[in-house]
Amino acid sequence: MSEADFDVLILGAGSGGYACALRAAQLGLSVGLVEKGPLGGTCLHVGCIPTKALLHAAEVADSARESEQFGVRASFDGIDMPGVNAYKDGVVARLFKGLTGLIKSRGITVIEGEGRVTGPREVTVDGKAHTGRHLVLASGSYSKSLPGLEVDGERVLTSEHALRLERVPASVIVLGGGVIGCEFASVWRSFGAEVTIIEALPRLVAVEDEASSRALERAFRKRKIAFRTGTSFQSVKSTDSGVAVTVGVAGGEQSVIEAELLLVAVGRGPSTAGLGYEEIGVAMERGFVLADERCRTNVEGVYAVGDIVPGLQLAHRGFQQGIFVAEEIAGLDPQPIDELGIPRVTYSHPEIASVGLNEVDAVETYGADGIETVTYDLGGNGKSQILKTAGFVKLVRQKDGPVVGVHLVGDRVGELIGEAQLIYNWEAHAEDVAPLVHAHPTQNEALGEAHLALAGKPLHAHS
Ligand SMILES: Cc1cc2nc3c(=O)[nH]c(=O)nc-3n(C[C@H](O)[C@H](O)[C@H](O)COP(=O)(O)OP(=O)(O)OC[C@H]3O[C@@H](n4cnc5c(N)ncnc54)[C@H](O)[C@@H]3O)c2cc1C
Repeated sequence: MSEADFDVLILGAGSGGYACALRAAQLGLSVGLVEKGPLGGTCLHVGCIPTKALLHAAEVADSARESEQFGVRASFDGIDMPGVNAYKDGVVARLFKGLTGLIKSRGITVIEGEGRVTGPREVTVDGKAHTGRHLVLASGSYSKSLPGLEVDGERVLTSEHALRLERVPASVIVLGGGVIGCEFASVWRSFGAEVTIIEALPRLVAVEDEASSRALERAFRKRKIAFRTGTSFQSVKSTDSGVAVTVGVAGGEQSVIEAELLLVAVGRGPSTAGLGYEEIGVAMERGFVLADERCRTNVEGVYAVGDIVPGLQLAHRGFQQGIFVAEEIAGLDPQPIDELGIPRVTYSHPEIASVGLNEVDAVETYGADGIETVTYDLGGNGKSQILKTAGFVKLVRQKDGPVVGVHLVGDRVGELIGEAQLIYNWEAHAEDVAPLVHAHPTQNEALGEAHLALAGKPLHAHS
């Protein structure tokens, strides 16, 4: 296909697609980037960035409310939602401007409009066909709902609607105690709403180590965020003041909870329907595109990155897959991505961060006698005490082997995951990490202390 319009044609300019475009252009490849919405996709416009801005505003509200604990006299006079939204939208707008400039400066051709795959390496937009020597599918994901649950954008919301709210609701039911549900629950509680989370699984953020879920549950209980685990959605009705949601537990008992709003946060499905992927023979499963560890689909020259590929639906996974595919196409033979080495952060108050295996999975992999764990309580960490945050660092290691899982709970621990990720990815042993000098007083020290403890020489922890 030497007569193709582009070396790389990409469908979707979210985290996966635009990262691929930027890297491919850097490597001297010509790039066509098809996008029907704003460049940057979910993460920049309705995902990571705006939610983290709300979470930061929530932290500021908590600081104002709790300032007395630090001997500071300040008063909390409530939330000015238009002001919060202006701050949030300003952050998004600045990043969007930067990204747009970057894409332009790298000479990437942006093809605006809704694309559909119409040939093995061809995408048609508004009746015009564009071809690539290689095609990268990066069409992202959408908020799922449940049977019988109609999202109206008024009382029953997805995260996208929730990001556009112009008031703080008096009360909210959050359906789904995963990452997105817990983050919104945390924000709304800090803003003053009554919040109830409904989760079908036995615990909140069930993908995380059980100790992390339990710590989050304890913290949420203290913050008066109600949650019902092992409880499933049955139906929803409109009331004069909002919604009445019927939920049930296994065994049959049902109850009704009322609130002003219902947020549906039950996961994200792949945006692939009707895009022509199957027609060119791409192998799919439940709407997801199947790709191998080199992000290749079964159709030659066609790659897939980001949320449409089964696995963690995270922006940084999409970025790395996008970079990988660009380098693969350029013949640089990049290292495949280790999915377990991808860090995961829930940015609630407190935060959960992790990399590698949780304890249960580690036992499954190495056997109960094949692993060791150590938990270092942030009670012994000076900076965490200064910040008045509770939590822990939990390490899981293969017996006499490397650290295979790091689990963190506490305010701001998301910022520590970089070091944990290096430890995991370098297959470091506790004895390698223990001698490293960590700055004092930082929360990072807690990682150092946990490794000291695992190496059998705890400093600020009991032997
Ligand atoms: C509320 C929320 C909070 C989140 N927070 C975090 C977080 O803190 N950290 C994190 O790592 N991840 C977070 N995520 C997940 C993250 O946003 C996604 O993993 C990431 O955006 C996936 O990137 P992607 O490129 O696969 O898809 P997307 O970002 O969804 O991009 C796909 C793009 O393709 C375009 N597109 C689709 N179909 C077509 C078509 N036919 N024609 C043209 N264009 C098309 C879409 O318009 C979109 O721009 C969050 C998600 C949500 C919803």
